Parts: sequence; structure tokens; C-alpha cells
Amino acid sequence: MIRAYTIASGKGGTGKTTVTANLGAALAQHGRKTCIVDMDMGMANLALVLGLAETPVTLHEVLAGEAPIRDAIYEGPYGLKIVPSGLSLRGFQNADPERLKDVMRDLTERCDFLLLDAPAGISTDAVVPLTMADEVLLVVNPEIASLVDALKIKILTETIGGAIGGAIINRADGENFDVNRKQIEKMLGVSVIDTIPEDANVRRAAAARTLVVVKSPGSGSSKAFRRIAASLAGFP
Ligand code: ADP
Ligand code: MG
Repeated sequence: MIRAYTIASGKGGTGKTTVTANLGAALAQHGRKTCIVDMDMGMANLALVLGLAETPVTLHEVLAGEAPIRDAIYEGPYGLKIVPSGLSLRGFQNADPERLKDVMRDLTERCDFLLLDAPAGISTDAVVPLTMADEVLLVVNPEIASLVDALKIKILTETIGGAIGGAIINRADGENFDVNRKQIEKMLGVSVIDTIPEDANVRRAAAARTLVVVKSPGSGSSKAFRRIAASLAGFP
């Protein structure tokens, strides 16, 4: 059974790309065929955090009908499959919706888990992925601004027929915690799957063009990513 998740947040910079890449790698490490797709046509940085230097064919060329999806799939750590995005001002707005559905169908046939890294905001590019997966996972920081934006995405997702699978609290640090897990659950009306700590190893890994789950597997954030992967995939 394929599980497809859209990783969304509303607010930019909460850690969607970090969560998509590390969760994807953690699932792949456990032998789950996992594909991650950069749906952020504007910021397109999934390939960068994974250290993929050259990605001549991206989702952009596929949606434009210029290349087959197989040419846009690159390999990352533990066999993780990555579909990068190209910088584009057009985004999904001019993309043929049928082609997008074909791409999703093709990817779901290739993998056990599909993670879609969504852009921030509520542009067309951000809204389209909210209904393309089985569930949306909200990445929130424990701050009011992040929660307000996540709540908007939750309401929008449910209004357009999507489903919220839960929230992941990212960048939690013991002292700087505006709101706790219970308050977040109450405010968003969704359950919190897990909490990822603020962890300097995330930045160190990014600077080395790799992932924290690869570079610092014993770190607090890596442990959290592996716990979340285990809870999604049902392994101990
Ligand atoms: P988004 O995709 O939501 O815009 P990113 O994943 O690009 O967010 O993360 C934004 C910044 O925060 C990046 O510099 C990233 O390295 C950093 N970051 C994300 N999660 C953590 C964490 N748990 N600890 C420390 N830094 C983090
Ligand atoms: Mg991002």
C-alpha cells in the first residue's frame, strides 16, 4: 500500500524541506522504497540540501511535457529517490492537470512512500499539493505565527477535500517554547505526531550538502526523524 504525504506549513522556513529529506532518507534506510518530490517551484531547494549537483531534468520539464518522469528521478542516500524542481515562474499554474496526475500515478507505482515538499503560502502552487496526497503533515514551529499559518492550511486543506494526518513540531528548544504540545493540538485541532528539537547538526549537515540522518545519526533530530519514519511505516 502506497502512502503519500504532502509536507506543508503555511509559513516559510518551518523546516518542510528538512523534514521531507530526512524523513525520506529514514524511510529508505529501513528498506521502504521512498520517493520525495520538490513541489516548491519558487524555492526549489530539495536537490540542494541533498547535495545533488546536477539535475538537468526536473519536475518542471516533466510537467512541460519535455521529458518523461524517469529522467527526473535522482538517487540519494540509502536509495532514496528524488524528483527535484526547476526554478520556474509558471509553477503549476500553466501545468496540465492531467500530466500532474500521470506523474503522481507513475511515482506511486514506483515507491512505497511518496513525500511531497510543498511551498509556503497559499498560491496555486501551494494549494495543488494539498489534495494530491493521502494526507497532509503540517510542520510547525512552537510559535504563534507558525501556528496561525498552519491553521489556515488545515482549514484550506479540509475545505478543498484533503485530509490532515497530523502535525510535526520542528525546532523545539527547551527554553524558547511559546506553546507546548497540548496547546498546539488544541489550537490546530490535530494530533502532534512527534517533536524534532532545534539541533545545530541540521545546519552542519546542510553546510556539508548532506542530511543530518546521514552525517549525525546519533543526534536528537536524527532520532526524531527515525521515530517519525517508524510511526508512519509501522516498524518498531
Ligand atoms: P522550509 O522548507 O519550510 O522553508 P527548511 O527545511 O528549508 O524550511 O529550513 C529552514 C532553515 O531551518 C534551514 O536553514 C534549516 O537548516 C533550518 N532547520 C530546519 N530544521 C531545523 C532543526 N530542527 N534544527 C536546526 N535548524 C533547522
Ligand atoms: Mg522548503
